[in-house]
Amino acid sequence: MSALSGRFLLCLPPAAGTLSMRCSHQLATMRHASLLPEKKRQRLLFPFSELEAHLSRQIDRAKFQLFQPTVEDLRQAEKLFTPSPKHHIMYSSSAVRTDHLPELTQPEVCFIGRSNVGKSSLIRALFSLAPEVEVRVSKTPGHTRKLNFFTVGRAFTLVDMPGYGHRAPGDFVDMVEPYLQQRHNLVRTFLLVDGGAGLQKLDLVAVEMCEEFGIPYVLVVTKIDRTRQGALLALLLQLQDFIKDQTSTCFAQPFLVSSVQYSGIHLLRCFIAHVTGNQQLDSKTT
Ligand code: GDP
Repeated sequence: MSALSGRFLLCLPPAAGTLSMRCSHQLATMRHASLLPEKKRQRLLFPFSELEAHLSRQIDRAKFQLFQPTVEDLRQAEKLFTPSPKHHIMYSSSAVRTDHLPELTQPEVCFIGRSNVGKSSLIRALFSLAPEVEVRVSKTPGHTRKLNFFTVGRAFTLVDMPGYGHRAPGDFVDMVEPYLQQRHNLVRTFLLVDGGAGLQKLDLVAVEMCEEFGIPYVLVVTKIDRTRQGALLALLLQLQDFIKDQTSTCFAQPFLVSSVQYSGIHLLRCFIAHVTGNQQLDSKTT
């Protein structure tokens, strides 16, 4: 069996300085991604490249690639997501009410989305190089939902927001709104949209909220492995028009990810490293 032929898990022997034996997806590291043939590697690292070929010539590609780091930039970003004795990546706390929010100074990014949009899977994929990080899931209806804080060394905090849905409208008002409105160190909100379902009513409520509070946010299209390319391209074009016509603080480029195949995960790590001020890029950026 080749190094890349197994489907999901690969255990790497511990490298000097690592905390423990790391078990993660086979394509979680740039080292393994770099073993792929060129086309596959490109698709994994820059998922838009696969769709680009199907795009009409009249359409300007630049706006789909505003954030376009180099492969070396992606390698650098990976270091931020790799734990070491001096760089701890861990779940740090949870808050059930906004007055329980930890007071932190480092930059913060948060992930919001409808229940089932693929948020836990995405956060797990982002942190897959630190498998000891436990991404807690609370899906029991009626069960209290929390904001979960993950610290990435002294570099930044990632916040997993309660998934909103018809069963939990209260979470939205009690937790998500005040957090987004008041959190001073929040540098970017990642709003997840299911690639198969497209923009839903509840997504629009979240968009409206980000717009009302004037906070910078980014759309992340999840589960792209499940979505046919034609449908994905149509969604991407729809989102671009939507962002242009109906938003003011949304980043013009939606990100595409698959937490199953790892597409777009390295790019998203790099974007997070960049927006939290932890990585200057040589390449063309926003
Ligand atoms: P959450 O409620 O937003 O945290 O969603 P989960 O991460 O629990 O995912 C909901 C469902 O979607 C689960 O069955 C996941 O296995 C599935 N899922 C999540 N991400 C992906 C993805 O990238 N591709 C595919 N095919 N399925 C996914």
